[in-house]
Amino acid sequence: MDSLASQIAVVTGAGRGIGRAIALKFAHAGADVVCISRNPDNCGKVAAEIVALGRHAWPVALDVSDAGAVEAAAGKILADCGRVDVLVNNAGVTRDGLLMRLDEAEWDTVMDTNLKGAFLMTKAFTRAFVKQRGGRIIVISSVIGLIGNPGQANYAASKAGLIGFTKSVARELASRGITANIIAPGFIETDMTSELSEELKATVLRQIPMGRFGSVDEIAEAALFLAGPAARYITGQVLTVDGGMVM
Ligand code: NAD
Repeated sequence: MDSLASQIAVVTGAGRGIGRAIALKFAHAGADVVCISRNPDNCGKVAAEIVALGRHAWPVALDVSDAGAVEAAAGKILADCGRVDVLVNNAGVTRDGLLMRLDEAEWDTVMDTNLKGAFLMTKAFTRAFVKQRGGRIIVISSVIGLIGNPGQANYAASKAGLIGFTKSVARELASRGITANIIAPGFIETDMTSELSEELKATVLRQIPMGRFGSVDEIAEAALFLAGPAARYITGQVLTVDGGMVM
């Protein structure tokens, strides 16, 4: 089922974890993919996997929080690819710490990557979306942006901010045939979550009615749905994919 045949998608944080799964899922669905990551080796490897599937792939090493670099990269991507149909703002980081110990640098790093990065990337491709009268913007937030979490005030603020940002963009661009939606993953097994203590994992598990953590593939399937034709009348929504953790 090639629901993204002849589409071009840009995925940030595509070097590993959820972003890699989305990039590969889109390629399986027929899309050509621009794989963005800070780490050139990782995005190169994922791009090679996509080429092996018979699709085009463009690896781009980029820090999404660097305004000048994003502007330049977007111009080059549009020139090289001709157009972009789907943008997935997935790149994200954590710098956890209880509020009283959280320092300014930890706050800034998380806000700059997670929230400003999505703003810069979305702004950089919006003119092209408006011109072609179509585009899909997908933003990866988190259930933590909906319910908060001790030790993650910076991360929760960035992820809640992404929801307000995306809903505003959805309202601004709906009349141009552009949709903007949010995926709020629950606890997904990736490198980001593998660092957490067994004790914390056990506590989280007790809060998940389905009794298990999610997989990167389950988030990628939600992204494929929002990028594909079946979601054409859906915009400004938060799709929570969390085994029932938040309901
Ligand atoms: P990950 O750490 O495995 O991957 C994150 C990717 O983002 C990496 O490829 C990294 O290089 C890239 N990245 C980080 N900062 C960047 C920057 N400034 N510029 C460009 N690329 C950058 O994380 P993951 O678990 O796959 O998470 C992906 C997204 O999903 C994040 O936004 C995260 O907050 C969100 N999320 C994850 C979970 C989870 O349980 N894993 C749950 C909810 C939300």
